[in-house]
Amino acid sequence: MRDTNEPRAAATSSARLPTLAEARERKLVAEKSGWFGDTNLLESDPRSERHALALVVRALVHTRRHHDREDELGTGLVERLIAAASQVPARRLRGSSWQCVVAVHDRVARRCDACSYRPGTQICQGCGGGGSIRRGNDERDRMPCSGCRTTGTVTCARCDGGLAIQRVTVRTFEDHVAELEHVFLPPIPIAMTAAISEHLLAIDELPAELAVDVDRPATVPLGSYRASAGFTPPRFHGIDAVHVLPEAKSTLSRLATQGTLVERVVQAHAVPMLLLDYPGHTVGIASVGETLTAFVAENDGS
Ligand SMILES: [Zn+2]
Ligand SMILES: [Zn+2]
Repeated sequence: MRDTNEPRAAATSSARLPTLAEARERKLVAEKSGWFGDTNLLESDPRSERHALALVVRALVHTRRHHDREDELGTGLVERLIAAASQVPARRLRGSSWQCVVAVHDRVARRCDACSYRPGTQICQGCGGGGSIRRGNDERDRMPCSGCRTTGTVTCARCDGGLAIQRVTVRTFEDHVAELEHVFLPPIPIAMTAAISEHLLAIDELPAELAVDVDRPATVPLGSYRASAGFTPPRFHGIDAVHVLPEAKSTLSRLATQGTLVERVVQAHAVPMLLLDYPGHTVGIASVGETLTAFVAENDGS
């Protein structure tokens, strides 16, 4: 259940932290059902309240891996694949696959042994060399073989018709692009996790003032008692990000373990939330731009 209240206050350029007073002033509703009908929890005072963050992360992680195999290839193809080693045909943030030759093991090319009967050609596997294929049960009902265009032979697959082959190492590259679209949330009831995630992911463009750099969070200024104790929690908009940032960062790095990292594009927004603790229920109020949205859920296990 949620209730949205559209803007009234003037625009500000920094992230606004939601408060219970503002939620009440905007007449937000966080309803719980009970014996005596529905009650708006926001009308009563919570046992406790705290600010927290919902971290919306959208990312593309482009990784590359390769594997090698030894093979015997026609000299013409070897030449082309050696040339291919000096250029990377991959496109930015796109999955793709390509090959090149990274080592030549036969200094002198050898005569292809796969086409000794008819140099440069092999018997067509589709029609067995006859040039036509049986259509049904009747031996006389035949159609032309498209694999060899009825000639019964095809270009030798090993030497590519050039008769000379070389043993080489072929390297196959595979580029993979992993996509992430996720809302990282502090510990809240499971039902609320789903509702908030759905709500925030449906917003096409989150306000610029909520954009954050996951690699460069602010920390508590040096000299404060927590910093001097050797603990500097990451912060966004002045709110402790320790419940969301480490998980977001480990998820992002897990996406890069598929191979070596080529490029990573991360878009992250930290949405300020107010979490209110009521007996049996939790209310969450999210602040996006000028809009406050209330979510309510029964506490897990209650
Ligand atoms: Zn054929
Ligand atoms: Zn051959």
